[in-house]
Amino acid sequence: MVKNYINGELLEPLSGEYFDNYDPSVAKAYGIVPDSDERDVDMAAQAANNAFKEWSQIPAEERSGYFFKIISLMQRDFNELARAECVDNGKPFSLAKSVDIPRAIRNLEFFASIIQGFESQSHHTKEALNYTLRSPLGVVGAISPWNLPLYLFTWKIAPALISGNCVIAKPSELTPMTAYLFSELCIEAGLPKGVLNVIHGYGSKAGRAIVNHPDVKAITFTGGTKTGREIASSASGTFKKLSLELGGKNPVIVFHDCDYEKMLATTLLSSFRNQGEICLCGSRIFVHKDIYEKFKKDFTENTKKLKVGDPLEPDTDQGAIVSKEHMEKILSYIELAEKDGGRILCGGKRFTPEGRCREGWFVEPTVIEGLPYDCKVNQEEIFGPVVTLIPFETEEEVLNMANSTDYGLASVIWTENLSRAHRVASQIQSGIVWVNCWMIRDLRTPFGGVKSSGIGREGGYEAIRFFTEAKNICIKI
Ligand code: NAD
Repeated sequence: MVKNYINGELLEPLSGEYFDNYDPSVAKAYGIVPDSDERDVDMAAQAANNAFKEWSQIPAEERSGYFFKIISLMQRDFNELARAECVDNGKPFSLAKSVDIPRAIRNLEFFASIIQGFESQSHHTKEALNYTLRSPLGVVGAISPWNLPLYLFTWKIAPALISGNCVIAKPSELTPMTAYLFSELCIEAGLPKGVLNVIHGYGSKAGRAIVNHPDVKAITFTGGTKTGREIASSASGTFKKLSLELGGKNPVIVFHDCDYEKMLATTLLSSFRNQGEICLCGSRIFVHKDIYEKFKKDFTENTKKLKVGDPLEPDTDQGAIVSKEHMEKILSYIELAEKDGGRILCGGKRFTPEGRCREGWFVEPTVIEGLPYDCKVNQEEIFGPVVTLIPFETEEEVLNMANSTDYGLASVIWTENLSRAHRVASQIQSGIVWVNCWMIRDLRTPFGGVKSSGIGREGGYEAIRFFTEAKNICIKI
């Protein structure tokens, strides 16, 4: 049973109501989640407000010390956390062990370390000395999605806490388990009461209550663009600070002068890793016409070799889709692609594994060609194991197609021509551009999207600046 973590204690929701938590690989409920509401959020806000007075005053080294205690407990429980992530989300256990949990640990390590080097500015003239203090905001809300549950939960709470804020966090209702286990570790590590509070429940109830709470000074949100839009409009009345990391429809641009083998292997990952449920996955693959037919054949053959099925099996490449509703959404886009004249080169259907996962929610890795770049399937986020192939001839043409969506989160360019790489990278409309690679993440770099992919940047000192308020002090000399 998952419980809320409020004022240092694990509590049932005040309503006494719960809903089911599913293991998507077997399509069965295996636990219950608190259906929290504004009363639980209010309790968390009071606890966070009380804790803020002391937490904001202790030296950053002391706050880092708590992080390192939590890290050692995460390392101790590494396998349990990875398994919980796999069961809750449907992702392969091997992926949770190699990506999700190591990165969650790294998030805490990273912010515990960089806070020591955080500086504020000073400006000196003959007339005056100006210096800027950066103070924590107070109580902040952190709302995270289901695709990388503990990875994104810690990515949000770590910079907020390390810079002296107290947090009310809400993980996705679909994947609450690792955030719950994390709250148990916070208690064991002796994190002061009320510094971190974790409220479980639906976005439309618990999430909204966090956004609307008058004591919450800022919201850091990762999730869908539609939800981001709602949060932005609710938060505008109270002038809350906002950081929104939203959806994407990322282009992968393959030029004929690329390192072909490297590109082929990486594009398989950028298309289908984590069932294609990473906001950074490339879902529109633009391929130069000179290598289009070869790429189509090789890529489709390699996609067919991916092993879909039981996430607990060590050789599984692609696990289950997080929910039945999401699986149906993905399948509906494939159906629409066929209606619009798209040719399914491989996949295209629900997948039924043999054995214990035969009822589970799986979708075959799917490659589609023959769709216009401006059709719905090529413009809207599907967020599943579905990619489209689109041939192109010139840079101008491909940039026009790549930039045609409302989104602008990430992009990938494959070319060995240095000038072309710089030229295309500077013209592509996205917050993150990878050239000849994908998902290399240096946590010091600014992370975020343009257009409907979000507002603000996370990562490094950008995140610390977001969670602090600048105050300038001017002294006449
Ligand atoms: P979602 O927007 O449905 O939910 C995200 C979180 O917001 C959940 O915790 C949910 O309960 C909460 N929520 C929902 N409605 C709310 C409301 N009205 N007020 C406050 N909170 C509310 O997104 P999802 O389906 O969980 O995640 C998938 C989406 O996340 C995709 O669009 C994906 O691209 C995006 N995403 C973006 C990034 C990024 O860094 N840009 C990273 C991962 C995922």
